[in-house]
Amino acid sequence: MAYDPDNVFAKILRGEIPCNKVYEDAHTLAFHDINPQTPTHILVVPKGAYVSWTDFSETASDAEIAALVRAVATVAKEAGVAEQGYRVLSNVGVNANQEVPHLHIHVFAGRKLGRMVP
Ligand code: IMP
Repeated sequence: MAYDPDNVFAKILRGEIPCNKVYEDAHTLAFHDINPQTPTHILVVPKGAYVSWTDFSETASDAEIAALVRAVATVAKEAGVAEQGYRVLSNVGVNANQEVPHLHIHVFAGRKLGRMVP
């Protein structure tokens, strides 16, 4: 899928619309989901223009990939949920109901989560 530069996360990354930021580094931004599904619900987003894990794995630098993985762990720790546990999830494409066409990772935490069902 071609990258749509008008998607909502692209606008957040350009500073055109606000977000409730929790973490940022050179390659990654993390912010609270606007419609949280759990008491803690954070989105971790690479700054580059990637729609899917296919784009990301094929074209991102090793530094970008490492930053995204590390950001998830940092966000969990800084949100105070690393010890109690959390769930990491990423929707890609139509079958997964990806709503925003910019690669992102959900971090769900803050309560006992249900068992994962596809
Ligand atoms: P997806 O279904 O995995 O693409 O999830 C997209 C997520 O983005 C949803 O959980 C939305 O609530 C969230 N979202 C959409 N717009 C915004 C926004 O402007 N700020 C923060 N989160 C947003």
